[in-house]
Amino acid sequence: MVTIKQTQLIEWLKNITLVIRENKDILTALDSEIGDADHGFNMERGFNKVSEKIDELSRSQDIAMLMKNTGMTLISSIGGASGPLYGTFFMQAGAVLGDKTEITLTDLKNSIENGVKGVKDRGRASVGDKTMIDVLEPAVQSLSESVGENLSLEQALSNMVDVAKNGMKSTIDMIAKKGRASYLGERSIGHQDAGATSSYLILKALKETIN
Ligand code: ADP
Ligand code: MG
Ligand code: MG
Repeated sequence: MVTIKQTQLIEWLKNITLVIRENKDILTALDSEIGDADHGFNMERGFNKVSEKIDELSRSQDIAMLMKNTGMTLISSIGGASGPLYGTFFMQAGAVLGDKTEITLTDLKNSIENGVKGVKDRGRASVGDKTMIDVLEPAVQSLSESVGENLSLEQALSNMVDVAKNGMKSTIDMIAKKGRASYLGERSIGHQDAGATSSYLILKALKETIN
């Protein structure tokens, strides 16, 4: 059985930092259209902190602690709506993993599912509200289907990212119902959501780290 090792998840965190830095201006530009132009800055600040603390994070005894410590780092360093939401995602993603130091596709699905549940409990957004949930929820759905169909880890990650990309693009035509963009009502139509975009980048970084 192919598994994901704790060291690979540490590589994922490093790769998220790189991809966020590369896309900082894009994330900020998207947030400037229907928000307050700080999403790139917020995400970079949070993941710079993760990257500064990566040696300490790497000493986490298991994947649950690694994810929890990452989430706490994000909560304490990202301002704005996205900090507590991504922080909750990582903390809750860890919460279902017990003391594992490597995980199967099923574990990964359970982990991301619980992370997304945490984001939904906290932010109360549903699919269609033009937020990161439009990427995260279909990604969980895709992972569940892949588990059900016994797909390989590689294929499952690839399918998840395809679905996440569609979710990201689907936000363009939506009216924002949550977050700052919701103040614009119909004027939010025609713009891709910044948080959906960062969620896509985070999931894509996972696929590229593992596959
Ligand atoms: P802020 O809006 O406080 O400036 P950011 O710009 O960092 O924070 O993040 C904005 C992103 O957060 C949005 O693009 C959206 O995807 C996400 N978001 C905002 N509110 C919610 C919510 N209630 N649930 C899920 N995601 C949300
Ligand atoms: Mg913002
Ligand atoms: Mg802000």
